[in-house]
Amino acid sequence: MPNNKVISIRLSTGWLAVVSLLGLVSVFFFCEYLIYYPVILRCAWPKLSAVRGGEVADGRSTGSTLRAMVLSDTHLLGAVGGHWFDKLRREWQMERGFQTALWLLRPEIVFILGDIFDEGKWSTPTNWEDDVRRFHRMFRHSTDTELVVLVGNHDIGFHYEMDWSKLQRFEKVFNSTSTRILTKKGINFLLVNSVALHGDGCPICQSVEKELVKLSRDLSCSLQVGPCAVEGCEGAESLPPTPPIMLQHYPLYRVSDASCTGEDAAPPEERHLLFREKYDVLSKEASQKLLQWFKPRLILSGHTHSGCEVLHDNSYPEISVPSFNWRNRNNPSFILGSHSLSKCFLPEESTVIAVYSSAGALLLLAVMAHCLCFKSVGPLLPCLSLCALIGKHKYL
Ligand SMILES: [Zn+2]
Repeated sequence: MPNNKVISIRLSTGWLAVVSLLGLVSVFFFCEYLIYYPVILRCAWPKLSAVRGGEVADGRSTGSTLRAMVLSDTHLLGAVGGHWFDKLRREWQMERGFQTALWLLRPEIVFILGDIFDEGKWSTPTNWEDDVRRFHRMFRHSTDTELVVLVGNHDIGFHYEMDWSKLQRFEKVFNSTSTRILTKKGINFLLVNSVALHGDGCPICQSVEKELVKLSRDLSCSLQVGPCAVEGCEGAESLPPTPPIMLQHYPLYRVSDASCTGEDAAPPEERHLLFREKYDVLSKEASQKLLQWFKPRLILSGHTHSGCEVLHDNSYPEISVPSFNWRNRNNPSFILGSHSLSKCFLPEESTVIAVYSSAGALLLLAVMAHCLCFKSVGPLLPCLSLCALIGKHKYL
């Protein structure tokens, strides 16, 4: 029959096992689910400071403000380049980040600035369908929220890789053309297929440029008083008379990220690397064309995976939206836009790793303490195996 000490050690080991299991489950639940709530809860829609009786200074009703969320470079891993665990983990993190943000912040419209997929540029029809299915699951949303997706080089390939079939399958999935103006609550959002702005007369480039010229005319006619009376504006689409917010994947031309600051700017060792035109950023020529044609009040772009704010020609502000994927950075974020803009950070991956590591260290200490307490009694399986692992004490 077991003596009292053996019964005591068995009870103690049982309790240790139960408490450890509960602790591990709690830590897992916190790191994989709960942590998104307190972190995103710190974010809020930007508010106007000067509100008078429900109206802002320029007369726009505060009730008509659009709540827009902007993120970029989700890079869902494909069938070729990604390890299954990497894929599972990154997609779970993005799904929880996005779903928690939707639940807490209730945006009316969400823009994703391209590079939705990592391997859209070469994926087979079967793999493409699988990527699209996972995207729709991760970024599911209610009918109260509109999801608008722009095209990036990883979705259809760099300029030399893209073709009509890749562009059309992208546009079909997201039910829209890649270059257009979307008007919401009096705001003109200009969506640009920036992959097709090489200016070399390629068929897709020609088509996109032609559309941009038309949209530029529509906008400039709308900005003039009485567009129907203005010469050359016959048949132009009537739009709200405001400069657009331009959204695209590639940033406008800039030399480098040297002047970028902030906690999600490119790392110091990368900031001074010179950007290549038509690869890292648009060409100077295409950038100037876009600025002259549209005179945007704001440009939002992705592609660099890091945050940055630039002022072009002392007039046109551009914000580089960092990647939403932990695979690309430790502190992904998204932009909240209403009266003005604010940035909302997701939990940092290093925090999650620190919590897991601390929990593991605590568990190890508890087991060691338990083994040391009962080492004179005799071998019991859990104690024996773990202590043998530690390798410091003999229990036989
Ligand atoms: Zn890109």
